[in-house]
Amino acid sequence: NEINTSNFVKNIVVDDLNTGKHKEIITRFPPEPNGYLHIGHAKSICLNFSLADEFGGKTNLRFDDTNPVKEDTEYVESIKEDVKWLGFDWDNLYFASDYFDIMYEKAILLIKKGLAYVCDLTPEQMREYRGTLSEPGRPSPYRDRSVEENLDLLERMKNGEFPDGSKVLRAKIDMASPNINFRDPIIYRIAHATHHNTGDKWCIYPMYDFAHPLEDAIEGITHSVCTLEFEDHRPLYDWFVRECEMESVPRQIEFARLNMTNTVMSKRKLKQLVDECVVDGWDDPRMPTIAGLRRRGYTPEAIRTFCREIGVSKADSTVDSQMLDYFLREDLLPKAPLLMAVMRPLKLVITNYPEGQTEMLEIENNAKDETKGTRLVPFSREIYIEQEDFMEEPVKKYFRLFPGNEVRLKGAYFVKCTDVIKDEDGNVVEVHCTYDPETKSGSGFTGRKVKATIHWVNAADAVPCEFRLYEPLILDDIPENEGKHFLEQINPNSMEVVQGYIESTGVQGIKPLDKFQFVRHGFFTVDTKYSTEEKPVFNRIVPLKSSFKL
Ligand code: ATP
Ligand code: MG
Ligand code: MG
Repeated sequence: NEINTSNFVKNIVVDDLNTGKHKEIITRFPPEPNGYLHIGHAKSICLNFSLADEFGGKTNLRFDDTNPVKEDTEYVESIKEDVKWLGFDWDNLYFASDYFDIMYEKAILLIKKGLAYVCDLTPEQMREYRGTLSEPGRPSPYRDRSVEENLDLLERMKNGEFPDGSKVLRAKIDMASPNINFRDPIIYRIAHATHHNTGDKWCIYPMYDFAHPLEDAIEGITHSVCTLEFEDHRPLYDWFVRECEMESVPRQIEFARLNMTNTVMSKRKLKQLVDECVVDGWDDPRMPTIAGLRRRGYTPEAIRTFCREIGVSKADSTVDSQMLDYFLREDLLPKAPLLMAVMRPLKLVITNYPEGQTEMLEIENNAKDETKGTRLVPFSREIYIEQEDFMEEPVKKYFRLFPGNEVRLKGAYFVKCTDVIKDEDGNVVEVHCTYDPETKSGSGFTGRKVKATIHWVNAADAVPCEFRLYEPLILDDIPENEGKHFLEQINPNSMEVVQGYIESTGVQGIKPLDKFQFVRHGFFTVDTKYSTEEKPVFNRIVPLKSSFKL
């Protein structure tokens, strides 16, 4: 889990340890429990946990649950599961809502220092008073309320005397500041809503800019890593830490968020895909959520390697989603056992093979790695091959099976096509072949050569199963989609369901999320939702090849 490459965040940490500014590094991962985590969060998780790990520090998992309306315990549970699955273990688990009492006290402190006031402007008025980049803001008519009046109003806000939106508590800073964040930002708002953790105890809730620095300071976070859009909030972060007289002074450091091609990376958008049933839940194998990637068959190792290799920088960029697939193949290749599966089956009958006879063929589990051993695969007169491995009228350079042509059946014999059986509509339903017993794999036969090897499964015991093949859910890389709303970029062909067979040796005792390589088709995993013992369902993780080069 180490960061092998140096990055600017790590350099800051090293400096702070060397100069003695800190004895121990404490970081945090602070998700808002308003959705499932996605691959972008993985980048932040890897960064925060690795920074602490590397220097013997600590990392907190903190739920930034300051917005009761959008948050839910379902999300809390999924986030815990996902962080653990990625391979990280937090030192402490905290909820920002546990600090509501302290935050409220700090708000009172700000009022007493003349640094906060209750404001009755409507949101529209407030926006108008705030001004623009080129034009300074104007002070709210409520800005000069007395300390006593502000204390009284805040308490009554807390006691539920006022309706949602009627009042807010604001910091009193500088309405003319060139940094708009300083123009009297909101500290508390009224929301009569039940909170997943604090229930109905509160009807005022702290805003992010006020809450987050306090949360970090309360926990003694040394380095508070966040994404670039908070860069110009940093002076405000420091202001709150200072004016709230926090003992511990955390440092906010911003890095560029992860963006990826063919991927929407926002819980709000992902929730929309779920709510509008574009996908089959948060863990749909096409989702870039950690839960979706897991169900799709991605491994924590591949995700961690990806997060490490993309690095940490201050410059926004978009990573090719195929880069993640590259690390995934690297990880799966030595791990996933190789099996034969046929997706679109065509029956092949070996007319000169004795009826009723079955022989066991020894086939290697990994063509490139002998240490993976061999397995015994049944072979008899009737087998299934891929429809695409046969052509009645072969096109140029087609070397697989066609009438009169001979190919090798993987791990078995040469077969030669002698006959084609069709249904009433002229579709090929069966191919007849003869085999040559001399050509058995491993026998050392050198008499003649064939130009193609095709895979197969034994018809008598092959297990019927379903394959789910995926393409990107979002097509943002085709010209006609450019600049369109993400819901208009949805790929209508993002999932294809195919029925076929898998060799029986492969499916004994398989469990959800077991991973395999199916000859020529790529890497697959057992679906967690639809797979049964009678009818296994496999998700394709990735096809074998890609043009992507690192
Ligand atoms: P979203 O917009 O997807 O909801 P968020 O930033 O609002 O993302 P949080 O739950 O607040 O989601 O994020 C928790 C942590 O994850 C934050 O520190 C945030 O900076 C980080 N994070 C979120 N998205 C990304 C991303 N794409 N790349 C890197 N870090 C991210
Ligand atoms: Mg958010
Ligand atoms: Mg966000």
